[in-house]
This record gives sequence, C-alpha cells and structure tokens, in this order.
Amino acid sequence: KKTPNVICTVFVSGLCGCRQSCKLFYRSDPLKIVRAFGQYMYDETGKQYLDCINNVAHVGHCQPDVVKAACDQLEVLNTNSRFLHDNLVLCARKLTSLMPEPLSVCFFVNSGSEANDLALRLARNYTKNHDVITLNHAYHGHLTSLIGISPYVKGGNGKPEWVHVASSPDVYRGKYRDVDYPGSDLGKMYADEILDIIRKAHDDGRSVAAFIAESLQSCGGQIILPDNYLRDVYRYVREAGGVCIADEVQSGFGRVGKHWWAFQLQGEDVVPDIVTLGKPMGNGHPVAAVVTTVEVANSFKESGFEYFNTFGGNPVSCATVIAVIDIMEQEKLREHATRVGNHLLNSLRQLALKHPIIGDVRGVGLFIGIELVEDKDTKIPATVKTQHVVSRMREEYILISSDGPDSNVLKLKPPLVFSHDNVDHFVKILDRVLTEINDAEVTMEAGSPPKEKMASDPEFETSPNEKKIIDDQQSEKIIRV
Ligand code: PMP
Repeated sequence: KKTPNVICTVFVSGLCGCRQSCKLFYRSDPLKIVRAFGQYMYDETGKQYLDCINNVAHVGHCQPDVVKAACDQLEVLNTNSRFLHDNLVLCARKLTSLMPEPLSVCFFVNSGSEANDLALRLARNYTKNHDVITLNHAYHGHLTSLIGISPYVKGGNGKPEWVHVASSPDVYRGKYRDVDYPGSDLGKMYADEILDIIRKAHDDGRSVAAFIAESLQSCGGQIILPDNYLRDVYRYVREAGGVCIADEVQSGFGRVGKHWWAFQLQGEDVVPDIVTLGKPMGNGHPVAAVVTTVEVANSFKESGFEYFNTFGGNPVSCATVIAVIDIMEQEKLREHATRVGNHLLNSLRQLALKHPIIGDVRGVGLFIGIELVEDKDTKIPATVKTQHVVSRMREEYILISSDGPDSNVLKLKPPLVFSHDNVDHFVKILDRVLTEINDAEVTMEAGSPPKEKMASDPEFETSPNEKKIIDDQQSEKIIRV
C-alpha cells in the first residue's frame, strides 16, 4: 500500500492471480507482514501483532542463533546434497536421537508434501500393497499423490479407488462422542472402524499399504486422538500387512510439550514405521524429512530405487535444523510449552464457564483448539461468529485462524516462546470479543439484527466453491459444493 507504484502493481496483480485459488489469511483484507521477532509480527506500518497462528516460526521468529547458524553456513558453502557434508550427518544423528527405536534412518526433503509423498513410496515398496487408509478431514499435502488422501481439500475428481477414508476420531463432535459413551474406550471404538475398512478392502480383493494420520489432527479441527486409538489401529494395519505413517508436520518437534512427537502421547509402545516432519523443523526455512526404520529404508534400496533430492539436506538447511533443535533443548522450550499451554488451557476453560459459545476447549502443550457453537447441547457450529472472532481479534492485533470441517474451531499454534503474559492478554481480548457477540445477541433478541451484521463482515466471504445456507436449525453454516 505504501510501496512505489510499480512495485504496488506487481504486488497487486500477483495477489489477484493468487487469490483465485490460494488461501490467504484474512483474504478480504490480507496482511502485509514485513518483519517479525519472537512471537510478534509487524506490518508495513510498524504495527505489532501477537502471532498465535505460526506453527513454522517454532522457536520464535528470527531467533538469533538460528539466523546466525544459517548465515554462517551460507557464507561458506551451500550446494547440491550429493556431496558428503558433516552437517547432513550431524543433523540426521540429532533428529534420529529424538526418535524411539527402531526409527533410525533419515531422508531429507524440502516440504511436508514431499515428505508424505516419499512416505507413500516407501510404504508401497515395502509392503508391495497399494491402498491407503486416511482420516476424514485430513490434510497431508498438495502433491498429486496426496490430494486423494486429503479429504480436507475441496474440489478435484473425488477420491481414488485406492483411498479408504475413516472417521476422524473426534470425541466431541464425531461418530462416537464422550457424552454419549461415558467411560467407554472411544479409541478402540474408532480403531475398530479401521478394522472394518481393512476387512472390506480384503473382501474387494484390495490390500492396504499404509495408514496415514496426523498424531493430532490439525486442519481437521485440532482433534486430540482418544487414548489407545493409535495402538489399536497400528496393530490392525500391521496385521493386514500395511505400515503406519505418522504425519508430524504440524504436531511434531515438541509442540505438545511432554514429548518430541505427538504419537508418543499414545504410549511408549506406540511407534510408527514412518514419520514425516516439516513446518517447524527449519523455523521458517524450507526443510522437511522422512524418518523410518532400517528395514523399510533397505527394502527401498534393494528394490533398485535411487533417491536423490537436489536441495533436501543441503548444508544450510541442516545447519538450521541443528540450531532449532539446540535452541529447543537449551531454552527448554518443551517444558515451557507444557507450562504455558496448561495456563492457556486452564484460562480458556474458565472462560468457557462464562461464555456458552465455547463448546469445547482441547489441546496439549501449545496445540490448542477452541470450538465455538451456537448451542452447547446441539453443538451447531458457530461458523459465522468464529469468522467474526478471527477478524475482531486481528483488529485487536492478535493473529489467530479457524479450521475444522465447519470452520468453527479457533486454532492456536503459536511460536513456543509464547509467554504467560501473552496468554493473559489473549484470553482478556477473547473475553471482550465474545462478550460483544453475546451483547449483540441480547440486542437481537430485543429486535435488531446483529447476525446480518456478522454475516456481512468483510472477513466472512464465501469462496467460489462455497455457498452459505441456512440449515435446518436456522443457523448459518458454510457448506462446500
Ligand atoms: N501435512 C500436514 C499435517 C500439514 O499440515 C501440511 C501443511 N499444512 C503438510 C503435510 C504439507 O506440508 P507443506 O505445505 O510443507 O508441503
């Protein structure tokens, strides 16, 4: 906006092209961020925003040691990864030292999508099977091989015949809810659906190469897997001759606090065959990885596959990853994520007592979701109000996003340096915004139409493949067509 005309034209025309299909944050009035530090981002006018969205700037934006490690290496050498380099070995050793046995072989790539694509190749080669079981609402990347196993992505030609979609194990809104089955092993109930899928696939003459799932579902609405789910699913899949892929692109690298990887929340004995990593790994630098067992990796090699990746594991990427892991350890950021995350969860649960719109607060460490509903009993998603909250919070200089199939889950994945004071500030402002919504509703009951005001909020734009409907309960909801 304040840039010279010629640059402005390039910026605006680029943006217009991008807006056809790219998902921007705040698409009706996108933010231009020009610098960032720690948990704060700054726009071109110098305004400071509290970053609650960023699951990439993991140890804090522009963390000085990470920046220095990358710059120092860039000054000496950056090259094709088909040369020997100490950083590659050191980085692989560091990464695998954070994984349970027998996960000990590392492939470096450049993005989470590339990691998941390679994971599928490894799985198919090892098992000699082809089909993949994925979860509803999952997102695993933008490559052709991954769109089919990413029901989150709308559009396209439907699901390929080799994909089997299981229910998202969501105990708040899913097929089996904790309110309906108090005290039951919901993990097992959801896992048994995978067993049914496997049996049906076998009856149809098909065989399963892999089960792929995030160990905490993020785009699907910040879903915390019920206890025992992965243990049972992994057993069923292995008994059927498949392997288990844990997508830790969003949930990994200590975000959950207590562990480095979210699959570890399910128990020490729950170990995937392949783990994919990305986003936080380079603190913003594009680097990702696949970690697997010697057995899976060897079978890839023995099948005659050569694997090369020009940029994956280059000396600068590896120097960056090493620095990120070092900072995590030196600054004890996992412990910090647990402390601050617990404070946030407790504060939000208090807030939920005051605001009936908060249907559920769930999370672990600094992976947190706040599900907004029109009514606690019917759980009608408060989609419009959620978009309103996101845009109001931005006006208050707080960046959050919403996700889930009904776009009614406020999603928090801040840099792990997020502080106790940041939590208090966030909760105070959220309280204020929810109070405004409540007051507007009271006014509506007295005769004026605040809902229309919210629906016409500039932030609440439907995209070309979405249309707004009034559902049975007269609640506004987005459906995608
Ligand atoms: N897996 C998950 C769970 C993700 O959230 C994403 C990115 N949102 C990916 C894979 C793909 O990663 P990338 O965008 O780096 O290709």
